Amino acid sequence: ALATSDLEPRAATTWSAGTPVPYAFLAAAFERMSNTMSRIELTQQLCDAFRCIMESTPEDLLPAVYLVINRLAPAHEGLEIGVGDALLLQALAAATGRKLALLKEQYRQTGDLGDVAAHSRTTQRTMFSTPPLTVRGVYHEFLCIARASGRAMQEEKKRRIQKLLVSAKELEAKFLARALQGKLRIRLADKTVITALAAAFVWYGDAARGHAPPAAVRIESSTLLLKRVYNECPSWNRIIDTLLQLRDIDERLAEHCRLTPGLPVLPMLAKPCKSVAEVLTRLEGVPFSCEYKYDGERAQIHRVADGRFHIYSRNCEDHTGKYPDLAAQLPRALRAALADAQFILDAEVVAYDRDAKRTLPFQQIQHRARKNVLLDDIKTRVCLFAFDLLYLDGRSLTRCPLAERRRLLRDTFQVVPGEFMFAESSDLIDGEHIQEFMDEAMRHSCEGLMVKALDGAHSTYEPANRTQNWLKLKKDYLSGVGDTLDLVPIGAYYGRGKRVGWFGSYLLACYNADTETFEAVTKVGTGFSEEQLAELYQQHSTHVLEAPRPYYAYSEQTRPDVWLETWQVWEIQCADLSLSPAYLAGMSHVQEGKGISVRFPRLVRIRNDKESEEATTSEQLVEMYVAQFQHATRAEEEEGSE
Ligand code: ATP
Repeated sequence: ALATSDLEPRAATTWSAGTPVPYAFLAAAFERMSNTMSRIELTQQLCDAFRCIMESTPEDLLPAVYLVINRLAPAHEGLEIGVGDALLLQALAAATGRKLALLKEQYRQTGDLGDVAAHSRTTQRTMFSTPPLTVRGVYHEFLCIARASGRAMQEEKKRRIQKLLVSAKELEAKFLARALQGKLRIRLADKTVITALAAAFVWYGDAARGHAPPAAVRIESSTLLLKRVYNECPSWNRIIDTLLQLRDIDERLAEHCRLTPGLPVLPMLAKPCKSVAEVLTRLEGVPFSCEYKYDGERAQIHRVADGRFHIYSRNCEDHTGKYPDLAAQLPRALRAALADAQFILDAEVVAYDRDAKRTLPFQQIQHRARKNVLLDDIKTRVCLFAFDLLYLDGRSLTRCPLAERRRLLRDTFQVVPGEFMFAESSDLIDGEHIQEFMDEAMRHSCEGLMVKALDGAHSTYEPANRTQNWLKLKKDYLSGVGDTLDLVPIGAYYGRGKRVGWFGSYLLACYNADTETFEAVTKVGTGFSEEQLAELYQQHSTHVLEAPRPYYAYSEQTRPDVWLETWQVWEIQCADLSLSPAYLAGMSHVQEGKGISVRFPRLVRIRNDKESEEATTSEQLVEMYVAQFQHATRAEEEEGSE
C-alpha cells in the first residue's frame, strides 16, 4: 500500500512557469527511474515529474504522459512509434559522424541502442549549439515520424530522427533511441502510470485549495477511479484535458469520460477452468449462465452518431476495412424501432457456411487482409454471434448485470439467420447440464463454453479485466493446464536433418508485465508443417537481431543460434507446466532458483490479433502452475476417497 509520505513531491522545476518543459527534464527522470528497483519509489518519482509539469506548464502534461508510456495516441488510431534498428543506426551515424560499422559493433556488444546513442553524443564535438529539445517538440517529431508515408518515407523518418539526435545531449539521446526502438525500459507498467498520475492530481488539487497533504486512502481511491475511467475511456487526450479542467479527481471525471461509440475499449477476458467441478466451485452461490465459445475472432462493433459502423479487434485495432460484409449485414439485424440506435456490441465473428447452415473453422477467415477488403472479393461469408451489449443510445451498460444487458441486446437486435445470431446460451446450472451443453457446443464446432456470472454485483462488464466472473472451459484442455498459452518467439535454432535450411525450433517467452521483460519459457519444434517451417523461416529471417534485447531474460543453457524481434505471438498447446532452472519465467515465484517451463509444447496457430505485450504473462503462468498442482491434489484425494 502507498503511504502519503511515499508520495510527497520532491522534484523541482528548472524552467520558468508557462515555458515549454525541456526534454532533458524527462530524460533525467527516466534515468533515475531506470536505476530504481522499488515500485513505490518509481511511482513516487513519476508522480513528482507529473506534478512539476502540471504545476508549471499544464499544456505539456499530455505529451509528457504519451512519452512516458511510449505511445502516441489511443490504440485504435494505429500510430506506431517503432522504427527498425537499421534505420536508427543510419540516423545515428549521420547525426554523429561516426562509422556505421562501428556503431553496429557497439550495438552488438552492448545490446542497447540507447547506450550506443548516449556514448556517441559524449564523444562528439558539435560546432554549433542547437536549441534544446522540449517535451512537446519531441512528441510532435515522433508523431511526424509515425505518420510519414509515401515513397520517401524512410528518408523522411531518417531526417527527422537525425535532427532530434543532433540536438540531443547524452541522456536525451539514450531515451530518444530507446523510445524510437519501442522500449524505454524503465519498467513503467500501465498501473504505475495510473497511480502516479492519480497521486499527482490529488496533490495538485489539494495544494490549489490550500489543504493539508492528502491521505493515502484518498490517493488509493482516486487511483481506482482513474483506472476504471481509463478502462472505459482509453484516451489520455480526453482524460487529461478533463482532469486539468477539474483540477481534481472525483466522480465528475467518470461523468465526463464515459464509454463512447467510436472509442474502443479493451474487452473483458476470462479465466481458464479445467473441469465442470471447478466451474461449480468457483461460481458457488453466484447465478451464472453458459454460452457456446465460438471459434472465430472477437469483434467490438460501434455504431456512431453519423450512423456508420466501426469494427474493432481484440486489441482495439480498427478492423472496419476487414469486414465490409459485416457492416452491410448489420442494419438488417437492428429492430425497426431502434434502426438509428447508437450502440457498442461485443461479439465473435465466425466463418459461416450459409448453405449447410453451420460455422466453419477460424482458419477460413484468418488470412483476410486487415483493411481495404472489397465486398466482391469475399469468398468466405461470416456470421456475427453477439453476446454482450455495452452501450445503448447515450447509456453505458457496463454497470448493469449481464441478465439485463442480454435483455437489452435481444430488444435491440433480431436474428438474421447466417448473418447475425445470439450466442447460444443456457442458464441451467447443475454439473450434468453443463456437461451436456458442452457436448452440444462441441457438436457445433465450438471450442468449449464461456461461463458467466449472470446477476448481481459480480456480473457487471469489466473492460480490460480478466476476472473470475467469466470462465472459459475448453474441451481440449480439460486436463493439463486448462488453456493454451500465447507465447512470443525471441530466438531460433537452425534445423538439422530434414530441417536444414530453416529454423528447426524456436525459443519462446512469456511477458512479465511488471518488469517489461520477455522471459524464456520453452523451446518448440513440434506442430509445424513443412510449408509452415519454410514460411516461418522466411518471415523471421527479416526480424533477426544483432544481439538479444536487454529485456530478454534467458539462461545460457537455452541460448539460441539467432535472436528475434518480438513481433509475433504463437498459440501453444502443452501437456503441463513444470519447474526448471533453465527457464526464467516466473523465476523463484514458486520455488527458489526455479522458473516455470512448458512440457511438450506444440504450435496451434499464429495469433495475429495479439501484440507481443499481450502474450501470456509470468503471473498467469504462476497462477496456472499453482492451479495445476491443486487440481492434481484434488484428483488424488477424490481417487483416494473412492
Ligand atoms: P486470452 O487472453 O484469455 O487467452 P484469447 O483471445 O486467447 O484470450 P480465449 O482464451 O480463446 O481468447 O477465450 C476468450 C475468447 O473467446 C474471447 O476473446 C472471444 O473472442 C471468444 N468467444 C467466443 N465465444 C464467446 C462468448 N460466448 N463470450 C465471450 N467470448 C467468446
